[in-house]
Amino acid sequence: MTIRNNRATSSASALEPLLQQAHDYALEYIGSIDSRPVYPEASDIANLGLFDEPFPESPCDASELLALLHRNGSPATVTQTGGRYFGFVNGAVHPAALAAKWLADVWDQNPALYVMSPVVSQLEHVCERWLNELFELPNNTALGLVGGSSISILCGLAAARNELLRRLHWDVNANGLFGAPQLRVVIGEQAHATVFKALSLLGLGRERVEIVPTDEQGRMLIDEFPTLDHRCLVIAQAGNVNSGAFDPFNEICDRANSANAWVHVDGAFGLWAGASRSTYHLYSGASKADSWSVDAHKTLNAPYDCGIILCRHREALVSAMQATASYIQWSENRDGMLYTPDMSRRARAVELWATLKSLGKNGIASLVEQLCARANEFADKLRDQGFQILNDVVFNQVLVACDRARLTESTLENIQLSGECWCGGTVWQEQPVIRISVCSWRTTRGDVDRAVSAFVAARSRAQSAQSRENKT
Ligand SMILES: *Cc1c(COP(=O)(O)O)cnc(C)c1O
Repeated sequence: MTIRNNRATSSASALEPLLQQAHDYALEYIGSIDSRPVYPEASDIANLGLFDEPFPESPCDASELLALLHRNGSPATVTQTGGRYFGFVNGAVHPAALAAKWLADVWDQNPALYVMSPVVSQLEHVCERWLNELFELPNNTALGLVGGSSISILCGLAAARNELLRRLHWDVNANGLFGAPQLRVVIGEQAHATVFKALSLLGLGRERVEIVPTDEQGRMLIDEFPTLDHRCLVIAQAGNVNSGAFDPFNEICDRANSANAWVHVDGAFGLWAGASRSTYHLYSGASKADSWSVDAHKTLNAPYDCGIILCRHREALVSAMQATASYIQWSENRDGMLYTPDMSRRARAVELWATLKSLGKNGIASLVEQLCARANEFADKLRDQGFQILNDVVFNQVLVACDRARLTESTLENIQLSGECWCGGTVWQEQPVIRISVCSWRTTRGDVDRAVSAFVAARSRAQSAQSRENKT
């Protein structure tokens, strides 16, 4: 059928003014992105107390509610959709993806089963095919769409656990881990916190791991690997969350593959290095792994929440995620819940498909190259201003320090208060550092210049304050 525009229907007439109101607020917000503070001011945060009212007894007018949300909520948002938010590794949002998501929000589809949403099933299928091609993965690599890498890592490690145990003639779904053959988990010293969380959720134990020491950039040292065997689950990383460094995948995967071990690659933001010729050397060898987790909401700039699990062994992923009930109606087509821990979930495929389609392979490559180029400019300009750059800037991450630890800490505090840009902090090689992640498609050279000026001003203020303290 074709959809006719019939605004007289009652549901449309009730919705139309509300959607129009939301649309007006959205445009007002978007228009303010470049001029608003990157981090909300204290008074705007204090205003959030207004939301903390007693649970209303009676209904509230939807238009009033929207007005309240915009008046008190919008000013207290963190402007991560702009060009000068460099916190964590938070991506901005690509216009085509946002618009497609709006439309899909109106659809409100549940892609658990094909029969619930043929269109989303088809878009998931297309995303699977395209990402297999982009990352040069084996034919028939399975894709599941989840909330983020925390869950996609969980899915990858669950598939690994089930498959390694199945090969040892143990059905972990049926019998759990009690009395199961012992698996070995081999992991880099700098693995992400969410990897340890997944290990603990899966009964593999966050402390029962064999830790491989890393070099000064955080890369696993191949010469320090234990001897691998068919009971090993090896977890490697594409993009160290601080330095952006990549583990040596060729060596790791070759060793693991000849031992029949399983390799999972945590590539939350770094897997996208595989999409560009200029960063491909970082990714090289990663396609030889068994499973990969990657976020679309970081480097790719799809909206939150969009995490992806990719698994070479389709059956292993499906078996780890399996659920059965008499009312479930499986189809010949793609049933999304086969690949995720969820049954009901959002139609994430819509915005993932929209981002991939609107950029195309060349656009994704350019986006990756642009983020890396801005990170390098940032590093060079900060170095020129006398800051120390502590990592090799191979991707989009930059670690910055001042001459003294206390100066670094106060400079970071001043940056966070400036409203000009926002960065987080971390500890790197036992010293406090400022952590920059260039993760927004909107970040221009001008944004980098403004941020560098903010760094310099923040350091001057910190220096003056500290020299006043020293005098008293
Ligand atoms: C962000 C990140 C995660 C966690 O991803 P979420 O999408 O926040 O759940 C895991 N690993 C790495 C390397 C990350 O950068």
